[in-house]
Amino acid sequence: MFNLEEFLLMREKRVEIQNSIINKFKKPILVLRANYPGEDKNNFIPKSIVEVIKKEITEIFNSDILIVEKISSIEGPTYIFSIDYPGIEIKKIAMVIEDNHTLGRCVDIDVFDETGYPFSRSDFGGEKRKCLICENMAFVCGRTGAHSHKQIQNVIQEKYEQYLDIVETQESISNTFSNNALKSIVLEVSSSPSFGLVSPLTKGAHKDMDFFTFLDSSFALTPYLKSVSKAGYSPLPIDLIFKKIRYMGKVSEQEMFLATNNVNTHKGMIFLIGITLAMASKAKFENLSFRDISNLISEMCKDILKDFDNIRSKSNLTHGEKLFLNHGIVGVRGIVKKGLDIIFDEAIDVFENSLLKENDINASMVRTLIFLMSSLEDTTILHRHDIHVLNNVKLEAMELHSMFENSPLDISLLKEIENKYSKERISPGGAADLLAVTIFLQSIKNMF
Ligand SMILES: [Zn+2]
Repeated sequence: MFNLEEFLLMREKRVEIQNSIINKFKKPILVLRANYPGEDKNNFIPKSIVEVIKKEITEIFNSDILIVEKISSIEGPTYIFSIDYPGIEIKKIAMVIEDNHTLGRCVDIDVFDETGYPFSRSDFGGEKRKCLICENMAFVCGRTGAHSHKQIQNVIQEKYEQYLDIVETQESISNTFSNNALKSIVLEVSSSPSFGLVSPLTKGAHKDMDFFTFLDSSFALTPYLKSVSKAGYSPLPIDLIFKKIRYMGKVSEQEMFLATNNVNTHKGMIFLIGITLAMASKAKFENLSFRDISNLISEMCKDILKDFDNIRSKSNLTHGEKLFLNHGIVGVRGIVKKGLDIIFDEAIDVFENSLLKENDINASMVRTLIFLMSSLEDTTILHRHDIHVLNNVKLEAMELHSMFENSPLDISLLKEIENKYSKERISPGGAADLLAVTIFLQSIKNMF
């Protein structure tokens, strides 16, 4: 039976544990508990709810989490996270979860800074939390006992059932989206002739990879494709979704390198397909239109060029940073900042029109690749060559694009060009990534 003395003792004990974790790591802590009335705080519902929110917090803070401690007591399941992240930012994110997540109002997330100071909503001019049942402040209803425990428990159970429904849809959408994405990635590397890229028939301009390396790499991305799709199908705001998928992308890069013996097959693809999948799922969650995916991508990546802000003082510049410094080329970052408009406005049409006209998926892919090569500042080409080579590639692609606009592709001519590019070590990898994203987006267009 419920024992007030034991309850108070456990609370005291928890505070002791919290303080010892702060003292040990000298970092802020986050304390997660179910907001569940009554004596039985350890039944299935509050336990499940705490696990759901624990997973959210873990995905958001990922490698910044130093330790997670679980306490099971009469107080109900409790998690204490020590997080190497500014306390004030942790509190803001905690408030976003409490306010936006389907189960956010069913938990209490307290944040203490590294001195033990407990942040409160009023520190941010934020309102106190609302009651689960009526429009009053929660603490008012709590004090006056406006609602019975049973009433509140029923509402929490309803919320949990609502959450389970969302998870079911999330599962089905992320299955479809991630399968289509994987198929698009495999289709892209199967197109031929492909101007120095790897294809089933040639290693193109590459020595360290072939078609089978790409198959290994593609299938190694499977868990990533699924998890970014799931992350996007969420009520959380897109900056938090971005924070989650950035980390998922890093993990996926490691899985790719493991699968390919350290060959970079899909690094650019991981980034591009990740944000596309996540925002396609988000558009689905919010019941938006297909074209809104572009707006969401643009919104999510609005600060992405800030990566370049401090590069003049940096000593170890990445390839992309050097190109920006020397040529003002912003590469794939610039393209996503514009919401992949080159795909939504043009490439999808090129691909789709060709499919309708010729019913030949390889021809449609090659045509789309040519179009993308003609309009892209392909940083993969610049990686090995200079701006003159890139400009020549663009010019040649432009000529091919107009040459075949109203006639079948001349495969033997394209093969000649492919051979030339392979010999000159030219490989339009950036255009290839965008081709896969185009195929993917076209494949889900009619789901909106
Ligand atoms: Zn109320």
